[in-house]
Amino acid sequence: MPDFDYDLFVIGAGSGGVRASRMAAKYGAGKIAIAEEHRYGGTCVIRGCVPKKLLVYASEFAKTFQLAESFGWDVGENEFSWERLIAAKDKEIERLEGIYGRLLAGSGVEAIDDRAVLEGPNTIRLVNQDRTVTAAKILIAVGGTPFVPDDIPGHDLGITSNEAFYLPELPKRVVIAGGGYIACEFAQIFNGMGSDVVQVYRGDEVLRGFDADVRTHVHKEIEASGVKIVTETVFTKIEALADGSKRVHLKNSDTIDTDLVMYAVGRTPYTHGLGLDKAGVELDGKGAIKVDAYSKTTADHIYAVGDVTNRVNLTPVAIREGAAFAATVFNDTPTAYDHSDIASAVFTQPPVGSVGMTEEEARKSVAKVDIYKTSFRPMKYTLSDVGSRMLMKLVVDGETERVLGVHIVGPDAPEMIQLAGIAVKAGLTKSQYDAACAVHPTSAEELVTMSEKWSPDE
Ligand code: NDP
Repeated sequence: MPDFDYDLFVIGAGSGGVRASRMAAKYGAGKIAIAEEHRYGGTCVIRGCVPKKLLVYASEFAKTFQLAESFGWDVGENEFSWERLIAAKDKEIERLEGIYGRLLAGSGVEAIDDRAVLEGPNTIRLVNQDRTVTAAKILIAVGGTPFVPDDIPGHDLGITSNEAFYLPELPKRVVIAGGGYIACEFAQIFNGMGSDVVQVYRGDEVLRGFDADVRTHVHKEIEASGVKIVTETVFTKIEALADGSKRVHLKNSDTIDTDLVMYAVGRTPYTHGLGLDKAGVELDGKGAIKVDAYSKTTADHIYAVGDVTNRVNLTPVAIREGAAFAATVFNDTPTAYDHSDIASAVFTQPPVGSVGMTEEEARKSVAKVDIYKTSFRPMKYTLSDVGSRMLMKLVVDGETERVLGVHIVGPDAPEMIQLAGIAVKAGLTKSQYDAACAVHPTSAEELVTMSEKWSPDE
């Protein structure tokens, strides 16, 4: 075997790359390096899940103050400082980034602050340092990047989630394109902090891919919270106005004047300029790196994990794929990560928790489907005029009784779905759910007390 500079070279120090390199080190993989061109922690920690959730917490306070009054508190005048929030958020992200760096160092992984691209099957070029290194095995974990359709005039006047975390001030008016996770979450982040928000979605109800009842419920809740959702249309032009604001032209001929235009119309694998062709790494039709069940690319010694492979684009999935890669390649235990029944959350207000099949998916895959669902006003809101409702739904195989999917919208849904995710993954039946005693008074107790099958006449 030829000598290489490294036994493993990882490109990208996000969730997947960091976990993979640390696990590989633990298995005694040898000399390992990880290259990062931006900041350690990747999308999730630096400009994704983590700062997003901090902003969600911040934006929920308006409703919390309203609720506090219903419980007898005199909240009085309050003021919000975007600047203070962003500074606090930045400090926390810096702390987390430091932890990532220390974890790598503690594992004996060499961290290289540079952009790395492939120059050959085993050769990596460090772009700014202008040198090449070689590695026996390479892992690509470079993630994704926001997609901006560049076919309309003025598209460059819009920002993406990357920039939304660093705005110098809170915009008074915001227009967001998209109806997915990011569009819905940011629409309510800005709305909760006091901006006037218009969400422009090309479909009829937000969150395509989620259960239809969840989509209807969330769509209504987003509107009820004060966001205006314009459906069945897209941007055709963005125009800069003399006063610094922008005018968004829509396909339905309307225009909207705004201070901030944000695109949240999906993300694409970040493969541009990575030199994949020089190493024999092929892409699929959507620009994602093709991998097998063990995350091996079309080049034998090159692997890829996380969003760059466009399987299930979630941080915990990238982490599991990274760990499975390390076990397969460096611990002699071939491990194919099982992508079924992955629970996930959307941090809308109220949030969504979802795991397993939607009703639509179940109807296509089993002969008989039973649905149990309920919608009610959470106890926390009963003293106030907050009209928000909770939705709970179980999708059950009518023949085997197995619970195929759980879908929740309402306060704490993300916390509940983690536990429901264990039950769905374990393949438990409706009777087994019912055998669990309720915890009272909670919203979650509905998961074990829904006794009536829903019928379409209701
Ligand atoms: P999504 O794929 O979830 O949503 C993209 C949205 O943009 C959809 O509503 C889509 O419409 C619309 N769209 C796509 N192309 C166009 C276009 N050319 N013109 C107009 N509209 C368009 O992407 P996001 O950017 O919201 O999020 C990316 C990924 O990040 C998610 O899939 C998720 O995996 C991850 N993520 C996870 C979060 C979480 O776990 N809480 C939070 C944030 C992101 P249509 O529905 O018609 O396709």
